[in-house]
Amino acid sequence: MIEIRNVIKEFDGFRALDGLNMTVPDGAVYGLVGPNGAGKSTIIRHLTGIYRQDSGDVLVDGEQVFENPAVKNRIAYIPDDIFYFSNARIGEMASFYRSIYPQFDSGRFKKLGEVFDLDPKRQMRKLSKGMQKQAAFWMMMSLRPDILVLDEPVDGLDPVMRRQIWNILLNAVSEEQMTVLVSSHNLRELEDVCDHVGIMHKGQVILERSLSELQGSVTKLQMAFEGDQVPDITGRFEVMNHTQLGKVHTMIVKGDQRELGDYLATFHPLVMDMLPLTLEEIFIYELGGENYEVKDIIL
Ligand code: ADP
Ligand code: MG
Repeated sequence: MIEIRNVIKEFDGFRALDGLNMTVPDGAVYGLVGPNGAGKSTIIRHLTGIYRQDSGDVLVDGEQVFENPAVKNRIAYIPDDIFYFSNARIGEMASFYRSIYPQFDSGRFKKLGEVFDLDPKRQMRKLSKGMQKQAAFWMMMSLRPDILVLDEPVDGLDPVMRRQIWNILLNAVSEEQMTVLVSSHNLRELEDVCDHVGIMHKGQVILERSLSELQGSVTKLQMAFEGDQVPDITGRFEVMNHTQLGKVHTMIVKGDQRELGDYLATFHPLVMDMLPLTLEEIFIYELGGENYEVKDIIL
C-alpha cells in the first residue's frame, strides 16, 4: 500500500506540495487527475525516490521511499519525459535495466517484444514520443514491478497502442496484484481503466474516491412511460438530475440500484434502461453544487 501523509515540498519558497495526503491500496489502478502545475509529477518524483520531501511521509508498506533501495527496487517508473543515455539503442537500455534490477525477466521482455513493433537496434532518441513511451513500457513491465508509476502515459500514443498497453497492464494487475499509479490532466483518459481516482489541485489531493463506491451509489436511468405521466420517486430516492426528450426521461438518481429498479418496475415503464455513469458524471453529480473548484478542474 502506498501512503502519502501531509507531504510538503517547496521550491525556492514556492509550495508545490501543500500537505498532500493520498492512499493507494494494493492492486488498485489509481488515477491522479489534475490540471497542469497541480503537482502530479512532483508527488510522483517523491514516490519514486527522486525528491526528498521537506516534511511528511512517503510510505510503501510502511517504509519511507527516499534512499531506500529495497523499496525502490519494487517500483517501476515511466516518466513524462523518457530517460535514456544519449545514443543508446532500445536493446542497450534494456541491458542496462537488466544489470540493475536482478528480477528483470528476459522471457517476458522477449514475449512483450512481439506486441511492440519496435526494433531493439533502434536508437531511443530517433523514436517518436509515443514510440519512446512504448519502449519504456516494454522495459518497465519486464521488471515485474509490484508498483508501476506512469506520468501522463498516453501522451503521444495512438488509440490502438493505448489499448494494447492498458490490456497488458490490467492483465498484470489481475494476475499479479500489481499496483498502478497513473497521472493525467484529463479525467476522460482514465475513464475505462482506473478503479480509484484522486483529484489534485494546488499541491493537494482534494478528493479521493474508489469507483466501486461511487458507481454503486449513483444510477443513470433512461425510461419512457405510457402517456405523459412520470412516477414521482422523489419521496423515496434523491433525484440529482432529470431531463426529458419527447417521451424519454433521463434521470440521475442516488440510492441502491436494485431497489430503484424494482420500485420503478411497478409503474410498468414502456422501456427502462440503467446506464453506466461516466467518471465525469459521477463527480459532477456527487459534488452537486458544493465544490465549484473541483468541477472546473475535471471538466
Ligand atoms: P503537474 O505535473 O501536475 O503538471 P508539476 O508537479 O510538474 O505539476 O509542478 C507543480 C508546480 O511545481 C509547478 O508550479 C512547477 O513549476 C513547480 N515545480 C516543479 N518542479 C520544480 C522544480 N524542480 N523547481 C522549481 N519549481 C518546480
Ligand atoms: Mg506533470
